[in-house]
Amino acid sequence: QAITTDMATLTKQVKKFATDKKLEIEMLKDREEYRREFLGNVSHELKTPLFTVQGYISTLLDGAHKDRTLRKKYLERAEKGVERLAYIIEDLDMIGKLEMGDESLEVKEFDIVELSQGVMDLLEMKANKKDISLHFDEKYYRPIRVIADYEKIQQVMMNLVMNSIKYGKQGGSTEISIEDLTNHKVIVRVIDNGEGIEKHNIPRLFERFFRVDKSGARSEGGSGLGLAIVKHIIEAHDEKIYVESKFGKGSEFSFTLEKA
Ligand code: ADP
Repeated sequence: QAITTDMATLTKQVKKFATDKKLEIEMLKDREEYRREFLGNVSHELKTPLFTVQGYISTLLDGAHKDRTLRKKYLERAEKGVERLAYIIEDLDMIGKLEMGDESLEVKEFDIVELSQGVMDLLEMKANKKDISLHFDEKYYRPIRVIADYEKIQQVMMNLVMNSIKYGKQGGSTEISIEDLTNHKVIVRVIDNGEGIEKHNIPRLFERFFRVDKSGARSEGGSGLGLAIVKHIIEAHDEKIYVESKFGKGSEFSFTLEKA
């Protein structure tokens, strides 16, 4: 009797061990696949700006450097390309950490109104270039204290407001609104009257490397990582992110935060 019971227990343990190992292997395989896919995307994303920079430098070396105007123009373009490379690398670094769960939150209490206004100040020049005005409703001119990771929420706001400018129309506007919700939360909205997003693209917006215009031809082209980073940060806070958009009319990205 005792031996049968022992055998049964042993079989159970072996089976459990086998299942655990199988799960472990599958997890490793998933990670490996993730790594391979990620690296593939990374080199693809880096190639375009890299080739651009290379192109301008070659043209300069081939003789364009002798012409004062051309020299300035090509150097400026090369600099833009390098800048873009730097942005992409920073975004890649961040998304890698967030997706691997290596990034922890440093939560503290702060005023979300002040943070939003700071972001608007930082992006004002960029907005001016497209004649886009940035608004913050007067009635929110008061502290609204929340508990979250200041720097990460700042990045969320930067990415959302930056997108509203990049995909905004010349002479358009962006509005930030913050509203109290009843469940001890606030909702932050970034609303633009820009180009909007077609319905079928909305579900894919938060995927990493997803871009509506894949050509990368447009000067605004980013890495397609901005919204993926935003989503990860908001979800790491156990909060929600929403998007509403009408093609040709504009978009609204919003997210919730815990009130202090
Ligand atoms: P990107 O670096 O391309 O801006 P994001 O992840 O920030 O990457 O955005 C993904 C795509 O979603 C963009 O390429 C753009 O097509 C679309 N998008 C994001 N924000 C807006 C917006 N406010 N208005 C219109 N389209 C947007």
